[in-house]
Amino acid sequence: MSPESSESHESFGSQEAAESPEAARKAELAANLARVEERIAGACFAAGRKREDVTLIVVTKTYPASDVQLLAELGVRDVAENRDQEAAPKAADCADTQLSWHFVGQLQTNKARSVAGYADFVHSVDRARLVTALSNAAVRAEREIGCLVQVAFDAESGSVGERGGVAPDGVTDLAEAVASAQGLRLDGVMTVAPLDGPLAGRPRAAFDQLLEISTALRAAHPAATMVSAGMSSDLEEAVLAGATHVRVGSAVLGDRPRLR
Ligand SMILES: *Cc1c(COP(=O)(O)O)cnc(C)c1O
Repeated sequence: MSPESSESHESFGSQEAAESPEAARKAELAANLARVEERIAGACFAAGRKREDVTLIVVTKTYPASDVQLLAELGVRDVAENRDQEAAPKAADCADTQLSWHFVGQLQTNKARSVAGYADFVHSVDRARLVTALSNAAVRAEREIGCLVQVAFDAESGSVGERGGVAPDGVTDLAEAVASAQGLRLDGVMTVAPLDGPLAGRPRAAFDQLLEISTALRAAHPAATMVSAGMSSDLEEAVLAGATHVRVGSAVLGDRPRLR
């Protein structure tokens, strides 16, 4: 090897070390994903569950489509968003990926048509009017949407919670409405650990109750097997309780700026 070629080889090496912002971000996401993966695997082991029985959904809200692309390259298959205004353009930007899109935020009926254009799953079904709107939108888009009934453990009986979700005593009727609606498939139940009421600060107790509701639901609807629970701070409790899907944002993408 001539001195020149060894020199050029060295300079190539140092160029690689000064990696592009995109490569740095990809490495950061990969490291975060590895840590989350380790946590999920550890919780599955502790619960005596198989790792493949728990699906990681990465919540990409407030982060750009470029991050979603990197996540897809890193092997992520499921992503979630909570606002249609943000999700619709992002899903369009990522149309070349094979990602499944989950909608997990409170959903106004006038957004149902847009959401039906890209969402494979809606985790936040919490009232009959929304079932009707989603059904009409799905039929019109010629798509089938997997629906989860969102349960709010801090909602008053017969009402919808402050952060969305139906009180536990409303789940059966809403599930029946989804199951009989055209264009919709009843896939299961979802919850967010409550901030108020007797279960506030006790995510495991809330997730245990969600599993009881899921068991009762599956007696009537055996295919409704999805149990969506657990976020960055409480994914272990969710896996221990029996969740099939965890929704993890900040532990993968970083802390969100407090915009709202
Ligand atoms: C933002 C969000 C998550 C993820 O929360 P992190 O704490 O960032 O993991 C999960 N579920 C819903 C419904 C969310 O809105």
